[in-house]
Amino acid sequence: MNKSVRLASGLVAIVLAVGVLAACASAPVTGRNQLILVSEPEAQQMGLQAYQQILEKSTISDRQDYNRRVNTIGRRIAAVSGKPELDWEFTVIEDDTPNAFALPGGKVGVHTGLFKVAENDDQLATVMAHEVAHAIARHGSERMSQQMVVKGGLQGLGAATGSAGAVQLAAAAAQLGIILPYSRDQEAEADQIGLIYMARAGYDPRAAVDLWRNFDAMGGDRPAEFVSTHPSPGSRIERLQELMPEALEIYKQSTSSTGQ
Ligand SMILES: [Zn+2]
Repeated sequence: MNKSVRLASGLVAIVLAVGVLAACASAPVTGRNQLILVSEPEAQQMGLQAYQQILEKSTISDRQDYNRRVNTIGRRIAAVSGKPELDWEFTVIEDDTPNAFALPGGKVGVHTGLFKVAENDDQLATVMAHEVAHAIARHGSERMSQQMVVKGGLQGLGAATGSAGAVQLAAAAAQLGIILPYSRDQEAEADQIGLIYMARAGYDPRAAVDLWRNFDAMGGDRPAEFVSTHPSPGSRIERLQELMPEALEIYKQSTSSTGQ
């Protein structure tokens, strides 16, 4: 086959695969349609493996106060995330960078450095809900799928040559996807979903504005997850303010029904 035929057949196979697999994917809260070529069980398996690798290389914090707060906040957010049935795990990791992550399958890590930026439980819940939102909205799988399409389209590989090739391609893309930074759109979406999740869990959504201001005030020491791919702090806070009336309404309902 010459290059253009190979490219064309690769694209046809991809379009077919996309049509079959991507039909039912949409993000929670926003309802945005998503191209996702990785099944949830596959993504969860990869998430679990990545989590175990990270924990093996890390020092797990023995600060009881940090662990208690992270677990309490995490359980409350997980319960309202739409996937309470996942095997949720929350671990505090000794690391000075103020960061956190959530992997497919409900595996969440919070760095001790985050406690320097998050001044209270509501602010801590802001970051944790943002991370949980990335996981529930399958943003990692979405990034992987975009990689698969780019690689498949350019090389005419995998999808055109049969399932074994496609599986290899998926595995290679998956390796990339789990460490790929999220897109700006995904970050904005995680902010939006996270704001709703924290409000549902009974945490004051107005704390999100304070938390991102704290990050902004830190200057150059901020982790990439919260700066490089994000819109400017000003426009981020503007967006949060736009979403605030809805989030506050949810917050009022959740706190009145639980008697907090
Ligand atoms: Zn993010």
